[in-house]
Amino acid sequence: MGTRPLLNRRLAGMGSTIFAEMSALAAATGSINLGQGFPDRDGPREIAEAAAQAVLDGRGNQYPPGPGIPELRAAITEHQQRFYGLAYDPDTEVLVTAGATEAIAAALLALLEPGDEVIALEPFYDSYAACIAMAGATRVPLTLRAPAFRPDLDELRALITPRTRLLLINTPHNPTGTVLTPDELRTIAELACEHDLLVITDEVYEHLVFAGAHRPLAALPGMRERTVAISSAGKTFSFTGWKVGWVTGSPELVAAVRTAKQYLTFVSAGPFQYAVADALRLPDSYFDTLRADLLRKRDLLAAGLAAAGFEVFRPEGTYFITTDITPLGETDGLEFCRKLPERCGVVAIPNVVFYDNTEAGRSLVRWAFCKADSVLEEAVSRLRRL
Ligand code: PMP
Ligand code: GLN
Repeated sequence: MGTRPLLNRRLAGMGSTIFAEMSALAAATGSINLGQGFPDRDGPREIAEAAAQAVLDGRGNQYPPGPGIPELRAAITEHQQRFYGLAYDPDTEVLVTAGATEAIAAALLALLEPGDEVIALEPFYDSYAACIAMAGATRVPLTLRAPAFRPDLDELRALITPRTRLLLINTPHNPTGTVLTPDELRTIAELACEHDLLVITDEVYEHLVFAGAHRPLAALPGMRERTVAISSAGKTFSFTGWKVGWVTGSPELVAAVRTAKQYLTFVSAGPFQYAVADALRLPDSYFDTLRADLLRKRDLLAAGLAAAGFEVFRPEGTYFITTDITPLGETDGLEFCRKLPERCGVVAIPNVVFYDNTEAGRSLVRWAFCKADSVLEEAVSRLRRL
């Protein structure tokens, strides 16, 4: 085999994801898993039944259409209109993908050339770094710093170069829980227009906002024609294993993303697409209850983590809480998380893996609160041993 590394150099050092590592550690040690972000209760029963019924009725059991089934594309456009007043054409401006993950991959592979620079909010979700690398482009972090985790927009302005092609914006933001304000969004939009940049917005936590409101960047002046908006059913409907995601944008952008997407999975999740179409049409009460439940869980876990001695940064959105371990006399989040199962029987995620500027994330640790109250209570009682 010679001495040449097997793994393509663009993926060198990317090993296995932190989520896989930490979930395996939780399983091996029987720990409470507050690491990987998935709910411990499935979404609505009637939506699960709709998926089962679609399988039994033979809807979606063979390759669905490349852009997604028409019923789901229609439901996505209705959702964008209902929540944000944004009108999209279901035939040319919507694309169904294998989760937001595939949408991110397809968008980056479609829109980037080697040598392009992508400015992304740091800490960044792990697949951003991998997909930017696979596209041969370079990531440029705009670091959100504790305790407030706000973007410094003067710094953003200074990071833009003639090579900048794209801004990759995630709001509500994983892992910090930051929700961008109208002013922040306006400045980002103005910079994108001024420098003629493309924008990808990852909005998978759009319905998990506890303070302020989710506002799609695509709704701002000049943004519709340059923004690829991405979301998914995983977080909103508590079916992370179904992997139904989608893209909305101008016909030109969606066509570009579809070109890459068709050679990644081609299509996926046929019967689940029917069920997600139903889910997107659930009444407001569904979305309100989801948010209220998670708000209660956020406060329960935040109080418990504070009582255990962590510095707690209360998130405005998402189902994650970031903490600092420094008050516990600890400095290294990665080492802390690797030892935590043995010390306390709890698993968390070290935020440092989402940073290039590792100093900014070294002592930060993320906890998922999309779990039963009793599980959160047991976890915080175990953490009091620290
Ligand atoms: N973006 C962010 C910010 C996420 O946290 C996640 C994780 N679930 C994804 C994208 C991927 O979403 P999906 O499971 O729909 O692929
Ligand atoms: N998005 C989830 C998280 O941030 C994990 C998804 C994954 O395992 N890739 O925890």
